[in-house]
Amino acid sequence: MYDGDIASTLVTEQAIRDKIAELAAQIGADYASEQAESDLLLVGVLKGAVMFMTDLARALPLPVQLEFMAVSSYGSATSSSGVVRILKDLDRDIAGRHVLIVEDIIDSGLTLSWLLKNLESRQPASLQVVTLLRKPDAVKVDVPVKYVGFDIPNEFVVGYGLDYAERYRDLPFIGTLDPAVYA
Ligand code: 5GP
Repeated sequence: MYDGDIASTLVTEQAIRDKIAELAAQIGADYASEQAESDLLLVGVLKGAVMFMTDLARALPLPVQLEFMAVSSYGSATSSSGVVRILKDLDRDIAGRHVLIVEDIIDSGLTLSWLLKNLESRQPASLQVVTLLRKPDAVKVDVPVKYVGFDIPNEFVVGYGLDYAERYRDLPFIGTLDPAVYA
């Protein structure tokens, strides 16, 4: 599949599976007591977080509900500006709910920072973030990310939900693109 387009594998399918099991156990333990109040609400950001969200939901040892948001950030295809527009909002009120934002990747952190402010204003009981991938720049900005799968180098990656021009989301692993693909 996509023969020749992928330059290297950064995170294998097995490593993703193992990491999700690890994160699910940790999140399950952290939310065990909150579970009595209401089901944990996973908020996924379309489309990149879909694969991670569905695998995480099935690995978590507690009941969860799924909500999705779609946002577009103004800027080029490969970097964001922090100015965000909601394309699809949540279907329900999150006031009083325990909310966990599920992100595919945090780069500048601008999108997430905006999202946190937006969701915080709706008064959830708690609001935390889990991301599968984090790039070096994200460590510098002050966005509280409780659960991180992998810290990766500053390279453009695709696969497991992440795209380049809408392609490669269906790859089961995370890889880097051959520069010829951009050309
Ligand atoms: P941030 O606001 O943190 O800079 O941008 C986060 C968003 O940019 C991610 O949700 C994702 O859509 C996109 N993004 C950042 N880095 C990459 C990358 O390496 N590959 C892909 N496919 N998208 C990325």
